[in-house]
Amino acid sequence: MGAQLLDGKALAQQIRDRIAKDTAELVAETGVRPGLAAILVGDDPASKLYVKNKQKACDAAGIYVDENRLPASTTQAELLALIEKVNADPKVHGILVQLPLPKHIDSRVILEAVSPLKDADGFHPHNMGRLVEGNPIFEACTPKGIIKMIESTGVGIEGKRAVVVGRSNIVGKPVALMLLHRHATVTVCHSKTKDLPAVCREADILVVAIGKAKFVTADMVKPGAIVIDVGVNRLDDGTFVGDVDFEAVRQKAGWLSPVPGGVGPMTIAMLLDNTLDSAKRTAGLKT
Ligand code: NDP
Repeated sequence: MGAQLLDGKALAQQIRDRIAKDTAELVAETGVRPGLAAILVGDDPASKLYVKNKQKACDAAGIYVDENRLPASTTQAELLALIEKVNADPKVHGILVQLPLPKHIDSRVILEAVSPLKDADGFHPHNMGRLVEGNPIFEACTPKGIIKMIESTGVGIEGKRAVVVGRSNIVGKPVALMLLHRHATVTVCHSKTKDLPAVCREADILVVAIGKAKFVTADMVKPGAIVIDVGVNRLDDGTFVGDVDFEAVRQKAGWLSPVPGGVGPMTIAMLLDNTLDSAKRTAGLKT
């Protein structure tokens, strides 16, 4: 029997429908409409597509979008001035700065300039620090979406062996902390890990975020494991695959998220969720 597929598209749609309903209620009850400032610098085609998809999702949910498209020549000072403006704008409850930024701009300076109270991406050191404490205001969207996907299996996280492959600040580290707070026993692997296949084979929950096409093969997977494939890799023929060898691992895992249609749609749904929650806090409501 093959793995059950974790349909991120369908799960994300359910979440987006709930967000649309909650948004309409929030507007009706308090007059506060959730707002997202989307900031895109330059013409990177992938970034343009990501921002467009996020805008479309906001529109469908009734979330106001303050769209800011800036040329690649934008200076760091100009971008900082824009961040200051949206930080102060009462119509904006979440701020999305699409990464990567052009090389002449220091991403760290920009992300730290975003108000921690509007940091819908959860990348500000304040929110990262609070995540370490287990008390986050905003949780980063991709890791939060991964947790929702794991929870959708109905298999409890508590007490499980979880292995996260990849230690980036935007995926690997935060998802490892979120699993830890949910009482998994967590191992984080990276490019210097010795005998990675043996470590992966111990995982009841395996999260892979490295950016290497079909890197995780069936021999690295424990039978019945939950496998979450975060990677997005473009092949020469223009198609996209994940970090997991989908067809082979499908025969062995208990649950497997596909690429595309897995973690990607969940990331967008969580951005909307974070923006809605921020607007609720502004309106003095509990989240
Ligand atoms: P980074 O490049 O920032 O980090 C990659 C991590 O993988 C590093 O920690 C690196 O180790 C580790 N790594 C690389 N090669 C190996 C290896 N051979 N064995 C073990 N570990 C390895 O990537 P991101 O976290 O930003 O993204 C990872 C993937 O997820 C990408 O494909 C990206 O496109 C995708 N992604 C998808 C999202 C979505 O919404 N679907 C959102 C964000 C990312 P070391 O630290 O030692 O260098």
